[in-house]
Amino acid sequence: MRWKGQRQSNNIEDRRGNSSGGGGGGRGGLSITGIVIILIGYFLFDVDLSDEVGVLDKQETTTISQNAPVQESQQEADLRGLTGMVLASTEDSWGAYFKHHDAYYREPKLVLYRNATSTACGKGTSATGPFYCPADEKIYIDLSFYDDMKDLGAQGDFAFAYVVAHEVGHHVQHLLGINEKVARQQERLSEKKANQLSVKQELQADCFAGVWGHYVDQKGLLEMGDVQEAMDTAAAIGDDRLQQQGQGHVVPDSFTHGTSAQRMQWFNRGFKSGDPDQCNTFG
Ligand SMILES: [Zn+2]
Repeated sequence: MRWKGQRQSNNIEDRRGNSSGGGGGGRGGLSITGIVIILIGYFLFDVDLSDEVGVLDKQETTTISQNAPVQESQQEADLRGLTGMVLASTEDSWGAYFKHHDAYYREPKLVLYRNATSTACGKGTSATGPFYCPADEKIYIDLSFYDDMKDLGAQGDFAFAYVVAHEVGHHVQHLLGINEKVARQQERLSEKKANQLSVKQELQADCFAGVWGHYVDQKGLLEMGDVQEAMDTAAAIGDDRLQQQGQGHVVPDSFTHGTSAQRMQWFNRGFKSGDPDQCNTFG
């Protein structure tokens, strides 16, 4: 994927420099805006600085965190750049879609962390893989997931981009009220039926990722083999494949993401059409 030189998102919150290795979510320190406000206050209104700092320290910074400098490998630097570009392109494509429907696309934040971090949905750990938390509208990614994907047989920059776009897909579902509707329905359903709804929700996020793929393809950013990478990823992270690797047999009722074939099919549907309205997996 040709991601270098493309716009980077301003919505990346980098917590990798937080040495606590867990917990320290939102400990962003002072944003540039915060510092400017304090200085203006200091010079114009004679504000008590210490108090102002205290207030700001307790807040979660909403801009890029000014953490301790992050030590990163070349692979991590590339993945960070790729992630920032993918997030930016989802902002552009979903922003246009919402605008077209006279709605406002509230952009999600994407948190980079290592090992563990606190979220409004509880503690996030690398073992969970990338996830979206609707309560704080943030996507959480430990870049080491790239190596986990490789172990599953999914590799390449577009494979990783697909995962980011899938998580953004969950944010879109949240904005459209789909996540909440599913959760409400699931309360009244048997475990089997509730799982079937989860599968539909996941497949829709795959389809939304495909719609994003269509968008970047139109921009001429895809390279030979990129679509195959996404398809391989969809196949690699299908529940049937994961279950076979985990336990040696497949238990369809406990599927929550969809089979490899289903995931490939829905990604492809979004990719071919470029139309989110084609992503009604619930119909
Ligand atoms: Zn998902």
